[in-house]
Amino acid sequence: MKIVKKIQEVRKLVAEAKSAGKTIGLVPTMGALHEGHFSLIRTAKKQTDFVVVSIFVNPTQFGPTEDIDKYPRTLDADTAGCEKSGADVIFAPTPDEIYPQQNLSWGNVWVNVEKLDQPLCGRNRPGHFRGVATVCAKLFNIVQPDAAFFGQKDAQQSIIIQRMVADLNMPLKIVVCPTVREKDGLAMSSRNRYLNADERKDAALLYAALQEAEILIAGGLRDSKKIIGEMEKIIKLSGRTKIDYIDIVNTKTLKEVEQVRGETLLAIAVKIGSARLIDNIIVDCN
Ligand code: AMP
Repeated sequence: MKIVKKIQEVRKLVAEAKSAGKTIGLVPTMGALHEGHFSLIRTAKKQTDFVVVSIFVNPTQFGPTEDIDKYPRTLDADTAGCEKSGADVIFAPTPDEIYPQQNLSWGNVWVNVEKLDQPLCGRNRPGHFRGVATVCAKLFNIVQPDAAFFGQKDAQQSIIIQRMVADLNMPLKIVVCPTVREKDGLAMSSRNRYLNADERKDAALLYAALQEAEILIAGGLRDSKKIIGEMEKIIKLSGRTKIDYIDIVNTKTLKEVEQVRGETLLAIAVKIGSARLIDNIIVDCN
């Protein structure tokens, strides 16, 4: 496995792999890798021949109040995990490599996926999805993969990226992989390491609330307000949780639905201590 920092280097390795007839998979990450990321890499390796993992803490998706310097960086452990999971290349560029024009006041290009970037996490993180879409568009152009692999855990992100790829006719497939969870159901996240022992216990309430909603829906309840009310009760079992949102939305439009019918996304964001955790499930019912 190779680790490269320059666009030219990764392009050269990808070109060599392509001329040997290999298909290319890309797994975009911000590092501090865990089993959730490794499962994406393993899936990428099953579905494509040559897997590039990008590790880039993308400054343009952090808001002014979000501390990018505090984001965990664990390149040595990440390298070992990538190698074990079957990655062929780690592409770990510097911010200057990706945004050489960043400080210029003329001509920055952004990808805005309109409307889908407004609800859910977009409400409290203005500009976040513009940063995500832009960096993914750049990575897709740099690596030119046949397929890119994303986690269901970040549901809004994968819906936005799928929309961008379809609308801008980008020639790659987006594969969304299931959320990998801890034993108590907590979705694995690089941000879980911010939790102390008590907060970590309470963090399991997010998935407990989603599971309760699933049971209620399976039992015939369709009224979103009532379902959200029951989920709130579970999250509020701890005094340490602060709900950012609990929303029930259509999976295509991300618009709130009054009744759960068809493919529906139940999404939740909760602050516990200094960590903001997100999770979701998709249900399909009539
Ligand atoms: P991040 O490094 O947090 O930007 O995540 C990189 C990719 O890993 C994204 O596509 C995430 O959705 C995915 N990911 C993060 N956590 C998990 C998880 N617990 N299960 C599956 N995929 C995940």
